[in-house]
Amino acid sequence: MRQHGKLEYGGQATPQRTCVGCRVRTAKSELVRLVRVEDHVVPDLRGRLPGRGASLHPSLSCLELAERRRAFPRAFRVAGPLDVSRVRAQLEGDHANVM
Ligand SMILES: [Zn+2]
Repeated sequence: MRQHGKLEYGGQATPQRTCVGCRVRTAKSELVRLVRVEDHVVPDLRGRLPGRGASLHPSLSCLELAERRRAFPRAFRVAGPLDVSRVRAQLEGDHANVM
């Protein structure tokens, strides 16, 4: 006689990512995924854009830290500077709805 045991998936860990600004490792859901489109870094709000991503806390201080450390060119493996104005606008919009 054969037992049909259930497969258990309860032990899965929450996916974690490291913020490119403050380097704190935290749950993926706490971070905004960023992707590179040509020379721009853009927020991937739906989590669906293809390509290499970087994770950042939705906070201007983490964005500034990431810029200061040149974390974006490193994260996206490019040489040149990247424009983060769209990320900044997105983060500022969270507080003040500036468009
Ligand atoms: Zn951070």
